[in-house]
Amino acid sequence: MKINNDFEEFDALGNDHIGTSQDTPMRSDAFKLSKEEKIDIIKDDVRHIMETLGLDLSDDSLKGTPMRVAKMFVKEIFGGLDPNKKPSASTFENKYKYGEMLVEKNITVYSTCEHHLLPIVGKAHIAYISNGTVVGLSKMNRIVDYFAKRPQVQERLTIQIVRELQDVLETKDVACVIDAKHLCVNSRGIRDIESSTVTSEFGGRFKDKATRREFLDYIKLDTKF
Ligand SMILES: [Zn+2]
Repeated sequence: MKINNDFEEFDALGNDHIGTSQDTPMRSDAFKLSKEEKIDIIKDDVRHIMETLGLDLSDDSLKGTPMRVAKMFVKEIFGGLDPNKKPSASTFENKYKYGEMLVEKNITVYSTCEHHLLPIVGKAHIAYISNGTVVGLSKMNRIVDYFAKRPQVQERLTIQIVRELQDVLETKDVACVIDAKHLCVNSRGIRDIESSTVTSEFGGRFKDKATRREFLDYIKLDTKF
């Protein structure tokens, strides 16, 4: 009975999409195995799942799926679990003395819900006010992508992006808003295709109402080319 109760509790936690920490919960032995060893183990696990579902893995179309999924998990969609993949922290001196807010909006987010292992797809908008240091614009896209490539909770993803940029830019004045669709909500469970989830993290001066308002107004600008 105890096991059953625990499962119900975990199930509710997952369906409510409640995260438990700001850092991705990792095992202490997370990097003992090489990528190749992980792919080899996961390949067998995926085969086991498919066979348990009753699929015939000798079919030409299904034969390669376990290996394909294992490689995709380790090298692509969960590749951001590897700290070596973190974008290098190259920054520049703010030569123009640009002291206003810099906003990069509509950064594509492809992540995976850690409760259902289904896609999270959306847009991230980031702003910072330089205190003398700037980063290349594409660096912000890379930081978003690195933290997105993990089993994630959208709130944690938002916080991890802000914390990383605060470290790199050596300022608290960083903000991030993410608007995303969760396929676990859109395609199963409640099956609401229209709903999306907005999360935000405002650091330093972005806690001021006017600064926050300015950032949110920039996000609303409809850029056309
Ligand atoms: Zn989910």
